[in-house]
Amino acid sequence: MSQYWSKVVHSLTPYVPGEQPKLPNLVKLNTNESPYGPSRRVLDALRAEVGDTLRLYPDPGSDKLRAAIAKRHGVAPDEVFVGNGSDEVLAHVFMGLLKHDAPVLFPDITYSFYPVYCGLYGIAFEPVPLNGQFEIAVDDYLQPDRQRNGGIIFPNPNAPTGQFVPLREIERLLQANANSVVVIDEAYVDFGGESCVPLIKKYPQLLVTHTLSKSRALAGLRVGYATGNADLIEALNRVKDSFNSYPLDRFAQAGATAAMEDEDYFQAMCRKVISTKARLSADLQAIGFEVLPSAANFIFTRFPGSDGAYIAAKLRERSIIVRHFKNPARISPFMRITIGTDEQCAGLVDALREIVKFNKIK
Ligand code: PMP
Repeated sequence: MSQYWSKVVHSLTPYVPGEQPKLPNLVKLNTNESPYGPSRRVLDALRAEVGDTLRLYPDPGSDKLRAAIAKRHGVAPDEVFVGNGSDEVLAHVFMGLLKHDAPVLFPDITYSFYPVYCGLYGIAFEPVPLNGQFEIAVDDYLQPDRQRNGGIIFPNPNAPTGQFVPLREIERLLQANANSVVVIDEAYVDFGGESCVPLIKKYPQLLVTHTLSKSRALAGLRVGYATGNADLIEALNRVKDSFNSYPLDRFAQAGATAAMEDEDYFQAMCRKVISTKARLSADLQAIGFEVLPSAANFIFTRFPGSDGAYIAAKLRERSIIVRHFKNPARISPFMRITIGTDEQCAGLVDALREIVKFNKIK
């Protein structure tokens, strides 16, 4: 606290990212990064950027990258916006498309950055509870008292639950909610979901966000993007150019372009993660864990009658870190575990088997 702080800074409750440990040799299954490195083509593209041109500003419009993204998704370049991680894209979305008089709707259990952006930009929001199976139920967003909303946003698959809303349900939501923007955050869609990007042609109020941090193994480069009707993209450009005209440096633009162009590597890595996830889920169920269905690169799991924080602490003693959320209380029994390599996941299962066998679970 300081007298020099602005009023808004006094009122902020900032987002707390998962731990990036300084200790070596930890098995890091806590922040949904890829267990595999990026494509060789990305590394070559990054090396090619080292040189004299670094004295020059990068392309403010990231034209090459937007063209590569547009090609990959079968949309036009003016239907693509890029930013410094999808977190930055989302920040501009809240400012440019969700800040209205009526409250924004999002699930009560979801990506915890959404309420933080609302705090930063002074946006009212209404959390919509997940149903008893921890799913997003579209009907809950279509209740008469929620018809007047400032927009709707949720991740699909949702975080931290991993559960996926089928596209026909998203379409039902779009058909019934034409007067405000619907944002589908597809950070994890490549690990078993189905993208709703093709729907942007049909629904001018639909914006879909993506990240290169997970399925393209580039969390360290900080690149995310949004696709939507050109008018929505124009709003994001207006915010960007009122904030920072050069959000992506030369490395980010070159590396991300190469990543978007290496479809084979991307597909192969996603397939590996998906098959490891199936094995890990089955192994955990075999030792008594409940695992929610996941279309993401993580699982949400609990041991009946136990506290997630306790098991996570026991795992940490064995140098394995996973994510636990204290709030809301409904999810405190769970742990969110990122899918690692087959070897890491086998080690995790061995550790959990010992923990549930030898410790009095609380
Ligand atoms: N959306 C969701 C649902 C996420 O979990 C994350 C990762 N924390 C992001 C967006 C942001 O990802 P990034 O900024 O790395 O693109």
